[in-house]
Amino acid sequence: LTAEAQEVLDEIEEKNVDFLRLQFTDILGTVKNVSIPAEQAEKAFAEGIYFDGSSIEGFVRIQESDMRLVPDANTFSVLPWKNSEEHASARLICDVINTSTGEPFEGDPRYVLKQAIQRAEDMGYQVNAAPEPEFFLFEEDEDGRATTKTNDAGGYFDLAPKDLASDVRRDIIYGLEDMGFEIEASHHEVAQGQHEINFEYDDALTTADNVGTFRTVVRAIAAEHDLHATFMPKPIPKINGSGMHTHLSLFTEDGENAFHDEDDEFNLSETAKQFLGGMLDHAPAITAICNPTVNSYKRLVPGYEAPVYVAWSDRNRSALIRKPAARIPAASRVELRSPDPSCNPYLALAVMIHAGLDGIEKGIESPDPVRENIYDFDEEKRAEYGIDTLPENLGEAVDALEADEDIYNALGEHIGEKFVEAKRQEYKEYLVDVSEWELDRYLETF
Ligand code: GLU
Ligand code: MG
Ligand code: MG
Repeated sequence: LTAEAQEVLDEIEEKNVDFLRLQFTDILGTVKNVSIPAEQAEKAFAEGIYFDGSSIEGFVRIQESDMRLVPDANTFSVLPWKNSEEHASARLICDVINTSTGEPFEGDPRYVLKQAIQRAEDMGYQVNAAPEPEFFLFEEDEDGRATTKTNDAGGYFDLAPKDLASDVRRDIIYGLEDMGFEIEASHHEVAQGQHEINFEYDDALTTADNVGTFRTVVRAIAAEHDLHATFMPKPIPKINGSGMHTHLSLFTEDGENAFHDEDDEFNLSETAKQFLGGMLDHAPAITAICNPTVNSYKRLVPGYEAPVYVAWSDRNRSALIRKPAARIPAASRVELRSPDPSCNPYLALAVMIHAGLDGIEKGIESPDPVRENIYDFDEEKRAEYGIDTLPENLGEAVDALEADEDIYNALGEHIGEKFVEAKRQEYKEYLVDVSEWELDRYLETF
């Protein structure tokens, strides 16, 4: 066993952990669990744990269903909500191995992200990422089902007594801290019932792991308060939706921020600008991965601080990419504002990284920043500035993904195919459905 694995075994002993949840993520970003008694931990580290992958939606075909989970010892964490002195549960995030080849399973999103990180490493970079997941807290009805009723009337940065949800948010933060998160800030968001909790940036793999954990912790602790936390991108029309803006930077092997340039007007290096150029170039294709639900496109409309236009800015929030102000060189970074928290964080980070690296590899020049509010531009002005729009719906986004070889291939054949198939089906089901809106509008009119 590795030293890290040995440490985990000691901790299991010390903290009276009796069950271990072995976690991995399916293509759609849902965290899956295989639970094992803690006595099996040593075996899990030494040999992995076998499971039948065919029971997992879109994972494998029946004939190749045997998969092996290999826990990553760095991800050990005791679950704060299932914890007492005598009995505790813990989780470990796993890599998935294909038992017939002994190689990483190409349908494992964590592997897809590892490949993106490897590409960056081959170019001499380490990728850092920080997400800003937003979410709503809603009341439950008598049957414990989620409603869209908010339990507070707060607004952006409002404090008590309006922000009744701050108690819940505090408990969520304690839970996250128990699981090793470093919380940077938390605040009430613009919309009623909407919140944001920011955690410290980390390397891209840890960050993707963290997003999955974050969603689990937020939901579990909200439920303890009889509230339903949702990461659905646009639960209520005509108010802000929930984004998961993602800040990215590349560091060199000697720990320098490759995105920083003291002499540049925006403190962005040529490398950063090319990375940004690559993300703009591949923006339509990465949208399907970063905004993977029908509902995602109800958020990407003008007027609610969500991006619609493929441009960057050092100032305003209507652009797809923003260059946030940085106090120190290490903090120079770019912020992609399109991702929403319904995405699979592994795939989303993977395509963002590939898009950016492609920009560096091809030496793509980024356009000038747009400093005006692009929401106010008409079509003519957008044309004059050369500003494209993001795909308008899931169908268009999936087409754009399939048409972009660099991004589609980066997903690997297995995930690319399965993802496109699942999302086409989802969009088709949506198109043939008859909505509340249609009934309200037409039922009595015609
Ligand atoms: N909720 C907004 C969105 O949909 C973002 C608000 C903000 O700038 O934090 O992306
Ligand atoms: Mg926000
Ligand atoms: Mg932001």
